[in-house]
Amino acid sequence: MFDKILIANRGEISCRVIKTARRLGIRTVAVHSEADARARHVEMADEAVCIGPAPVGDSYLRGDVILEAARRTGAEAIHPGYGFLSENAGFASACAAAGVVFIGPPIEAIRVMGSKAESKRLMAGADVPLVPGYHGAAQDMDVLTAEAERIGWPVLVKASAGGGGKGMRVVRAAGEFADAVAGAKREAKAAFGDDSVLLEKYLGRPRHVEIQVFCDTHGNGVYLFERDCSVQRRHQKVIEEAPAPALPDELRKRMGEAAVAAAKAVNYVGAGTVEFLYEDGGFYFIEMNTRLQVEHPVTEMITGLDLVEWQIRVAAGAPLPLRQEQVTRRGHAFEARLYAEDPQRDFLPAIGRLLRLRPPAESAHVRVDTGVREGDEVTMFYDPMIAKLIVWDEDRDAALRRLRVALGQYEVVGVTTNVGFLGAIAGHPAFKAVEIDTGFIERHRAELLPPPAPVPDRGLALAAMAVLLRRDAETRKARRAASDPHSPWMTANGWRLNDDNHHDLRFQDGETARPVTLHFRPDGYEVEVEGRAAIRATGVAFDGESLTASIDGLRTRAAVVFQGLDLTILGDGAVWRLRLDDPTARAAEQDGGGGRLTAPMPGTVVRVLVEAGQTVEAGTPLMLLEAMKMEHVIKAPSAGTVTTLHFAAGDQVSEGAELLVIEGEG
Ligand code: ADP
Repeated sequence: MFDKILIANRGEISCRVIKTARRLGIRTVAVHSEADARARHVEMADEAVCIGPAPVGDSYLRGDVILEAARRTGAEAIHPGYGFLSENAGFASACAAAGVVFIGPPIEAIRVMGSKAESKRLMAGADVPLVPGYHGAAQDMDVLTAEAERIGWPVLVKASAGGGGKGMRVVRAAGEFADAVAGAKREAKAAFGDDSVLLEKYLGRPRHVEIQVFCDTHGNGVYLFERDCSVQRRHQKVIEEAPAPALPDELRKRMGEAAVAAAKAVNYVGAGTVEFLYEDGGFYFIEMNTRLQVEHPVTEMITGLDLVEWQIRVAAGAPLPLRQEQVTRRGHAFEARLYAEDPQRDFLPAIGRLLRLRPPAESAHVRVDTGVREGDEVTMFYDPMIAKLIVWDEDRDAALRRLRVALGQYEVVGVTTNVGFLGAIAGHPAFKAVEIDTGFIERHRAELLPPPAPVPDRGLALAAMAVLLRRDAETRKARRAASDPHSPWMTANGWRLNDDNHHDLRFQDGETARPVTLHFRPDGYEVEVEGRAAIRATGVAFDGESLTASIDGLRTRAAVVFQGLDLTILGDGAVWRLRLDDPTARAAEQDGGGGRLTAPMPGTVVRVLVEAGQTVEAGTPLMLLEAMKMEHVIKAPSAGTVTTLHFAAGDQVSEGAELLVIEGEG
């Protein structure tokens, strides 16, 4: 067994690996970029080495620098986590050359499985069922077009080196094919440095069911059941669960055995995932991931095993701890991926400081894997995942209930998150009824992504009381500090006997002004929102973080976070954002948006799709922006004429930069 390992990663997965290593009595070395100097994974590790500036190409992808860090610290093995260098055969061989154990599969297995095309050719030979398609080396348009016609529409174009849903395009008709191939190749080239593609029949309503396999260096191989990752957005997993619901046991066994056969066909060692699409009782290999997966915790929850421990033991040469018949499962687990992203803006990654980050309490039923703490920054440099929320219970219904409750308890302020979207999925009747396939989110889009609703009166009442009580506390503080503590000007409490004392406040709720009047009452307040019947609030208390009150007799607790004039109210899964309309502060913000279009995030202009002088409709695509290795379409918010273009293809843009100007009609 190793005395010391280095974790060549960051964030939650680095923390996750450190936790197991510590439990096994193994010392840990973290690596970090300059931007991550105070990150959670650095704090958790026994030692830490800075490996370069923030961009991943200068730090977390620098295999040479990481190996030098291992040498300097005397780490005997490297755990690559997922992403970054985890499926990089070149890095695995550099480790071997440096005499450091790579905690992962053999180099050749990584190489073969790293190519979706090559792995499919090999799987066909091992009698593993495949989706009908074209996995050949020839890439000219004539060949690809002829193959697509042979397969029949719809066809899926995939980057052969792909991962994370990048470089993937669905083509429904011949006319769209050439553009889709060009787009997929462009994205693949940028993300993986390899633009070869493969074609597959696009299945109508498949489920994504993947098998966790494990092999050792003694010829043993087992499967640790499956995970259902059908709930996806743009081919990326959003919620995963284990076991796959409504999967017949006989099929579970056949898929498990096929997965072990697939692993053995490449002399696999360590943890791997064999991914299948499952439709109408048939299953088809799509790829094998030669690493620990993001969603491995759901497997751990139902099997009671620690997959990182298995990885480390196998890498140290030990046999697998269990034989197939000894592997058992119990109950049901879900994992939801909590991201800093804005579902209302097509899930653009959000960046900013985590002003408030309070996960639900961990227990036998709730696990939180995270790499950030309150006060940390989510930056544009790395994946914007905040945490993985994992829940377990005896059966699917009970586990789903746990998921809904835990999501409702999550408090994140400072960056926009997908927590409401995750809650909407977890609460959807079709999800509960296991009516799931990879089209689930698209099919239920309208219900899962409702247009932003006005803040309810109750929310405005809570906001108004929080504002007043906060002022009250500030005044008290000032009074304590002031020379004349008895000055009547310093009196904070608005309530006077025999007087309907009231206070008027105005909030900005998106574009709408929302006036609120608070009447002071001996036992609390009556709050009028836009002249509607007053809400009665009693027993009101605000400790600077949470406001508690009985609202019309119902006890309520809401977290309230102030950022200047902005305030966020969180309660029971709802997140309400308001801005206090303070006339003095307003003048500073005069620069309204009008017809200007700004970059939602930092990136590179891939293509400009319009010319100056061109008239456009609302929704006309204007520009292709590449950010986070994905293409984003900038669309016209309303009809008008393009008057100015500020950027051309190839230009870098920073967040908030004005991209172009559209002058509206009339
Ligand atoms: P990546 O490596 O980029 O994640 P995968 O090959 O693993 O790509 O596929 C990711 C997802 O894309 C699958 O889970 C599934 O939802 C969808 N997908 C892949 N192949 C097909 C197909 N042939 N038909 C329908 N959907 C597919």
